[in-house]
Amino acid sequence: MDVIAATHNKNKVREFREILGPMGYNVISAEEAGYFEEPEENGETFMDNSLIKARAIYAACRKAAIADDSGLVIDALGGEPGVYSARYGGLEKNEDRVRLVLEKMEGVPDPKRTARFRCAVAFVSENGEEVTAEGGVEGLITLAPQGENGFGYDPIFYSPELGKTFAQASADEKNAISHRGRALRSLSQELRARSDK
Ligand code: IMP
Repeated sequence: MDVIAATHNKNKVREFREILGPMGYNVISAEEAGYFEEPEENGETFMDNSLIKARAIYAACRKAAIADDSGLVIDALGGEPGVYSARYGGLEKNEDRVRLVLEKMEGVPDPKRTARFRCAVAFVSENGEEVTAEGGVEGLITLAPQGENGFGYDPIFYSPELGKTFAQASADEKNAISHRGRALRSLSQELRARSDK
């Protein structure tokens, strides 16, 4: 099934492909579909924002669309950066946002460095039916960036399950347990259950 990924984040498109490809989905990026707009993400939750993005691309292309909205939720920062992960502190560069998190976490002892990635995915089918799913993964914020893989906050997100940061993990290792992997597998199960009915 062809599905347009409502994102301009190349890393997300790559992960959509890595995770959904083996499940039989042909992921087409928004650019490939000729869609260059970015709707305003003014929702209060990850789910609100993923629906805004999936509905916008569906309205423009009338083809099956999928979007995710995701972010890092840090307990010691009262849930920040949360839905503002992509624009935390109004900072343009990813390295600067990572640095800001580390600065704000200065002096926070190890047991209190708990955090989670959250991901909401929204799918709109070719005939406009909406299906949503969510996923999360627990971790700890490191004292310094570690690893070169992945994107975003991966270098400072230590996964106790993997024994390393997401940026030190291979794509397969990350996708097997990540918030996005979990949300997309759950979505795919729901889509399969509906098509079996
Ligand atoms: P949005 O979902 O496009 O609003 O952006 C989510 C932001 O959260 C990204 O730009 C990253 O900064 C961060 N983020 C989401 N998922 C991941 C991930 O898998 N690894 C690292 N950072 C992530």
